[in-house]
Amino acid sequence: MVRMDPLVRTSVVVQQVLARTYGTTLSVVFAAGLAYSVARPVPSVWLLTGTGLLAASIVYRLVRRLGQLDARELVRLDIELFAHVLVAAYWVVLSAPGGLGGPYYPVVYALMMLVAGFTRPAAATVLLLFALGLEGTLWALGGTGFWGDGLWPHALLLVLFMGFNFVVFRVEIARVRQLSRSKVNAEIQRLKDAARSYRLSSALGVVCEQSLTPAPKDAEDRALHSSVHEIHEALEFALELLRRTLALKTAVVLWLNPAGTRLHVQELSTDEDGILPGPFNPRDGLFAAALSQGKPVSLCGARAGKHTAYYALEPTVGAVCAVPVVDHGQNRGLLVVDRASRDPFTSHEEELLAAAARFVLRAVQNERVFIQLDTTKLEQGKLYRAANALAAATTEAAVIESGLNSAREFASFEFAVVTLFDRNSGEHEICAVSGEGADALLGKRFQHNAGLVGMAVANRHPLPYRGDYDRNRQVVFTRRLSPPALKSLLVLPLLVHDLPLGTLVLGAARAGALGPSVRPTLEVLASHMAVSLANARMLKRLEEMATTDGLTGLLNKRALIEASEQKIRSARRFGKPLSVLVCDLDHFKNVNDQYGHDVGDQVLRGFADVLKRVKRDIDVVGRFGGEEFVLVCEHTDAGGARRLAERVRAEIESTPFRVDSRELRVTCSVGVAMFPAAGADWEALFRSTDEALYASKRGGRNRVTLWSSKLQGAAA
Ligand code: GH3
Ligand code: MG
Ligand code: MG
Repeated sequence: MVRMDPLVRTSVVVQQVLARTYGTTLSVVFAAGLAYSVARPVPSVWLLTGTGLLAASIVYRLVRRLGQLDARELVRLDIELFAHVLVAAYWVVLSAPGGLGGPYYPVVYALMMLVAGFTRPAAATVLLLFALGLEGTLWALGGTGFWGDGLWPHALLLVLFMGFNFVVFRVEIARVRQLSRSKVNAEIQRLKDAARSYRLSSALGVVCEQSLTPAPKDAEDRALHSSVHEIHEALEFALELLRRTLALKTAVVLWLNPAGTRLHVQELSTDEDGILPGPFNPRDGLFAAALSQGKPVSLCGARAGKHTAYYALEPTVGAVCAVPVVDHGQNRGLLVVDRASRDPFTSHEEELLAAAARFVLRAVQNERVFIQLDTTKLEQGKLYRAANALAAATTEAAVIESGLNSAREFASFEFAVVTLFDRNSGEHEICAVSGEGADALLGKRFQHNAGLVGMAVANRHPLPYRGDYDRNRQVVFTRRLSPPALKSLLVLPLLVHDLPLGTLVLGAARAGALGPSVRPTLEVLASHMAVSLANARMLKRLEEMATTDGLTGLLNKRALIEASEQKIRSARRFGKPLSVLVCDLDHFKNVNDQYGHDVGDQVLRGFADVLKRVKRDIDVVGRFGGEEFVLVCEHTDAGGARRLAERVRAEIESTPFRVDSRELRVTCSVGVAMFPAAGADWEALFRSTDEALYASKRGGRNRVTLWSSKLQGAAA
């Protein structure tokens, strides 16, 4: 037990007495001033000053009275306030014509009825005596003696009015109080529930505001509720046990808010009615002493009752003890117990209470660990499913869609964008969007810059630091290109082996939605997304490599045959014409021999470009091998095919190729065959084009030959 030095104790007592009595003393001083002004003429400056001071003091007391919640302070504050107002009322009555016996005296009746209606009986009695004392003095100073002409009837009427008011209003007030008390009790319950889930929400790593957000998922909800229940049970049991063992009136756990500025009732066991939920000031007397000293502090005797702020009405408390609940050197709250007997808490009892405080802390900590385990398990399950879904996505679009869907499992956001970064051009492209106001961003490209997306890619680190976003200070994409109004934002780089492919940008209208609690999980998700994105790209490349010719970008032989067979089937089914052209460069060997293989390649690419330019959209063109190219044209009869072949031949003939500073010209020969006359399937049709091509070559090259039955077998 901590005992105070006698000197300190005396000074504290003197301070307390002064603090409690100076308001009433001031009322008496004002009353004396009024009496003096009646007895002697007073300069008007003094009169004015006195009136001003009285008015100011009334306003000050009114404000304090309205702001006061502690029931025990109300009696004192009511007496101070109404005594001031009484002095003012008598001043008004005296200044008016007729004085105390004049027509303005009922002002005092009205005021005292107010007093009877709204203050406690003790305050009303004190104020009645004060009024009568003041009035008697005023009569006496007027020369008629204390009971004067009017004090008797005034006193009688005042007592009658106040008694009547008291009875009538008290009945009504009692009814209203009863009603509001049940409301207050419900409110206390709600506050306790809120306080509890708040502590647990922080244990889940969710920031304060987030407990207001989207309804927690089922399993999380259940975990939270069962844990809340268990803490509740454990604490209640411990407090109950403590109360019975130490014969306590009340054992209460007061919990500090995160800022450490207020204490609220977290759990209690009591046999008293009317426990206040808080907030209480942790800097108040006993609470402050226990919190600052980090050990049990107790008081006994008459003073004890002054330190039990949690009682609505002052009960008879003989001893009180406050024990700090300390978590890793940090104050979390207090265990406060009190009892009716004046026996001081022994050191043995204090030890027991300290152990109980540790138990309180452990109960909360244990539950926090349980919840963390539960949550981790849930998160891992979700991440596992997200990773599976991402691995199954084989295209960029599918990866992005699956990634955004999974992200919704871990955080709540209304805005999402995926940007891809092209290292060669240094450009970012917004390639997927979701959410209101995001559509306008789709497909937009922007140069690498110092915006959040640019910096996340450059530094390979999520931004901004705490997920807070201010549109006026931060640039996301570019100054002109920004997301809609949001309070939270997170830009996660999509990294594969530290190589940035782009970013996942999430935004929420609510502050704190994308803070440190959701970030680690989202980072893991982003890394899965990046790997899947890289896989999808590789798959796309492989597919391209398998179907296109590396030199010219046209279809390769295998892909060409596949496409041709499909077109022949369709021509057969719909009875439509179809033509196949095969184009072969003339004396190409000479080009290679004369200019080298590289120039030969260049000519081949040029030839491919001509074919791409000349063909229609629905025609397919491929490199069949070496310097031989094939065109398959749907809905094209002999006439159309000949015209197309002629165009190809003429284009090639007139297209010069630049080699060093010289000009190189080539020609080509074309063979054309029509479905179904020249062949009913690819094999037969292609053989026929070959025969026609052979005829072109034999005929002198740089020409077009249409297959006819006369050519049959010629190539062989
Ligand atoms: P013609 O068709 O007029 O009878 O004579 P040609 O010289 O074109 O005859 P041929 O078909 O026998 O020769 C084709 C040549 O094309 C052989 C080869 O050196 C060359 N060639 C094949 N593929 C490539 C390639 O990818 N690049 C280059 N530069 N040359 C190639
Ligand atoms: Mg050739
Ligand atoms: Mg050839």
